[in-house]
Amino acid sequence: MDRQPLFLSLKGRRVAVIGDGPVAARRAATLLSGGAQVALFAKNPHEEFLGLAERCQRGDLAAENAFDGCTLCYFVPDGDDAPDAALIARAKGAGALVNVADHPELSDFINPSVLDRSPLIVAISTGGEAPLLGRMLKARLETLIPASYGRLAALAGEGRAALADKLASHSARLRFWERFYEGPAVEMALAGDENGARAVLDHEIWRTRPDGSSPEAEVRGEVYLVGAGPGDPDLLTFRAFRLMQKADVVLYDRLVEPTILERVRRDAERIYVGKKRSNHALPQEEIGELMVKLAQQGKRVLRLKGGDPFIFGRGGEEIDKLAEHNIPFQVVPGVTAAAGCSSYAGIPLTHRDYAQSCVFVTGHGKEGPIDLDWSTLLRPNQTVAVYMGLAHLDFLMGEFLKRGADPALPAAIIENGTRSNQVTVTGTIADLGDRAKAAGLKGPTIIIIGNVVKLREKLNWYAPTT
Ligand code: SAH
Repeated sequence: MDRQPLFLSLKGRRVAVIGDGPVAARRAATLLSGGAQVALFAKNPHEEFLGLAERCQRGDLAAENAFDGCTLCYFVPDGDDAPDAALIARAKGAGALVNVADHPELSDFINPSVLDRSPLIVAISTGGEAPLLGRMLKARLETLIPASYGRLAALAGEGRAALADKLASHSARLRFWERFYEGPAVEMALAGDENGARAVLDHEIWRTRPDGSSPEAEVRGEVYLVGAGPGDPDLLTFRAFRLMQKADVVLYDRLVEPTILERVRRDAERIYVGKKRSNHALPQEEIGELMVKLAQQGKRVLRLKGGDPFIFGRGGEEIDKLAEHNIPFQVVPGVTAAAGCSSYAGIPLTHRDYAQSCVFVTGHGKEGPIDLDWSTLLRPNQTVAVYMGLAHLDFLMGEFLKRGADPALPAAIIENGTRSNQVTVTGTIADLGDRAKAAGLKGPTIIIIGNVVKLREKLNWYAPTT
């Protein structure tokens, strides 16, 4: 290793920043946030220095002792200005370690790409050879290390002293932490339940054996109710993706695409619990009971649902069962079908000129078509997005017309939205039924009714492809 990584505390230390531009300003801001005393050498500070410059000491390059007492010295020349070799030599002569932007060969140290999840910090360096590669790697790590990891690290920090009192040996503490990081407190902390996580940590510290092991193995599974979005795997959230890597068993719906299922941990058990209209693969109560049973066996159960779990997804019913049995669970939102379809079809759901509100309704009740509150749906300047409406498309449109809606009111139907086989059919409420039949649509579909549908042509839409 040519360069030794270290995390340096600069609290109270003098650090010189030489430069006028925005990069110098950002450097000064970072140093100030770490408690350094910044000596700023800038002739015409860029506007990004606003509010910063006064927190720095102003340095004068003409002064012979300009760099005295500096631990570090940052040269951030403006644009393509060549670095001033004499100045660099002066700084080095004063005993400072020097960094020259974009010149690793002149620098004693270089700045890594930083993923800041304080107190957890990941720093990446390519030794100045390929800074962009470092930044790309950092972007990948962003998806792997969620923002909430900082919370987890801080929580562990809180428990350190108490654990050291309880367990004298280093290896016992190590054993404790290994167990802790596999346990349910981790997900609690990551999901924002800091109090719950702290309670588990305190309890575990209290009951640990002197060798760091647990007095009895407590089997405690958990359930993740996760929205997988409408189909395009790119629309998964970071959290959904992370929990997909963690699960021991996955219960999935018909609407969850194979391309999404592929991204679940390879050795996780897969159980299909999907339903087709009037053809229930597993009754709802049984899905709930199955989740409870698996979690009670200590498994991490991923309940993967199409779209968003709380939008026509019966998520509410499924968590009732879990709460009843005291199973820890979390719910992860997903992109709902109406939102996915609207973006990928070029139809904004709201628009200042066309629709100030948008309602999501289901076209299907427990027994056949639902009896909707039609007067609310017919309100002007509103978009109506209908889920599960294909089988009753003619009926739905008929009800609109019967109640006096303009037959020229634009409407669209989107099948397999956000997937590679997406089909979009547009028309009016008077002819959409026939057009959908002609296109041979089978579903799943979202119907969008309202003037916003007109925008599709106007926008000359470029739809992302999967
Ligand atoms: N929880 C889901 C909806 C479940 S209800 C969500 O938030 O999206 C199932 C209905 O969702 C389907 O009948 C269909 O109306 C709609 N749907 C789901 N995925 C879709 C897709 N990719 N394209 C069009 N409609 C979809």
